[in-house]
Amino acid sequence: MSKDRSFLDRRQFLKNGFLGVAGASALAAVPAALKGGQQAAAPAAAAAKATADFIRRPLGNTGIKLPVVSMGVMNSNNENLIQAALDSGIVHLDTAHGYQRGTNEGAIGKVLKGRPRDSYFIATKVQGEPRDRRTGTFSAETKAEPFLEKVDLSLQRLGLDYVDIMYLHNVSNRDSVLFEPLMGALQKIKKEGKARFIGVTTHSNEHDVVRAATEAKVYDVVLVSYNFRKTNLAELDPAIADAAKAGLGVIAMKTQAGGFWDREKTDPINMKAALKWALSNPNITTAIPGCTAFDQLTLNLEAMTDIKLTDKEKADLRLGGEDHGGGLYCQGCQACLPQCPKGLPLPDLMRSYMYAYGYRNLGTAYDLVGDLGVGTDPCADCGACAVKCTMGFDVRARVTTIAQLQAAPAELFG
Ligand code: SF4
Ligand code: SF4
Repeated sequence: MSKDRSFLDRRQFLKNGFLGVAGASALAAVPAALKGGQQAAAPAAAAAKATADFIRRPLGNTGIKLPVVSMGVMNSNNENLIQAALDSGIVHLDTAHGYQRGTNEGAIGKVLKGRPRDSYFIATKVQGEPRDRRTGTFSAETKAEPFLEKVDLSLQRLGLDYVDIMYLHNVSNRDSVLFEPLMGALQKIKKEGKARFIGVTTHSNEHDVVRAATEAKVYDVVLVSYNFRKTNLAELDPAIADAAKAGLGVIAMKTQAGGFWDREKTDPINMKAALKWALSNPNITTAIPGCTAFDQLTLNLEAMTDIKLTDKEKADLRLGGEDHGGGLYCQGCQACLPQCPKGLPLPDLMRSYMYAYGYRNLGTAYDLVGDLGVGTDPCADCGACAVKCTMGFDVRARVTTIAQLQAAPAELFG
């Protein structure tokens, strides 16, 4: 986004009245929210009014209550936008060690400087390495030490002594959730006070991951891909319900299902409706829609007070109708994995493709595809593609396109 465009968006945002009135309230009323709704010391009347209508839900057994809408910061280093989100009543920011090559945590750190520590709630994520690129499974080489070093670096970038949630990032199977060295590392972090709560995140095979996290009795929170286009809701909804019943906080991501119905991005998904759909599940504490612009922030804030889907919004989401697939969001269903004779990590390649084409976040797409170790033309010596994707993606074309991104010099991505 250009500077001018950003300025204009911010001006419009101010005109809409979110910033300023609620800005005062974020500092005054939020501590009450964080303490589970107890009375804040002396909230200004206007401030209290501004956030009084926000819908808040408890985060499992943590004793914390959060507004139902939070901010996924992944795709934006725009400090003005992060600032505006906090000043408007958003409390919970979600980032990760690897987002935007670590600069995402750095940008958040700058915004947080000088703010009262109990006025915001920060989650970050660190990935366990090495792991099998295809299945995500850890090996005997996967140790706690490098993971712990990355945790310390994340805290340093954020300028914090502790985060509110530290996640083991991007797990896709039961064994990874229960992997002792990393589970032990997270427990150590919590014991040392570097994280108040610990959890796992998952974009793939989510129902198994959520069930394993519940059974582990170690984690406080799960961050899960959850949207109206998911094809595993019959398994995922009961897994989430059981997790919530067991006292885990459940946070939703990828609520906007890639943002478009089509790969060409001519047919946008109604973002507010998609967000409301995810929040219509009472077992979801809060959602972290990715936010890169002030108009998106405005929509997200509107959903803070009203999550009831209108008939038009239901129609926009094509609920009950046939979903013909397409778009940019890979379900992480893993149906493609056994079909590819070369054993390519297809769900991660599709996610990288979505980051590049859907989110226009080339740096994160570049880093993800580079980590997968597939080379720049992994399908070159394969005959006809054997993969039939459940979403109808032309898998070969997407793999070939995204793998070529690695040929670009790393400096291009900051
Ligand atoms: S690429 Fe298609 S089949 Fe493979 S995980 Fe994604 S949606 Fe499922
Ligand atoms: S063409 Fe299809 S089957 Fe062959 S390697 Fe690529 S994704 Fe796998």
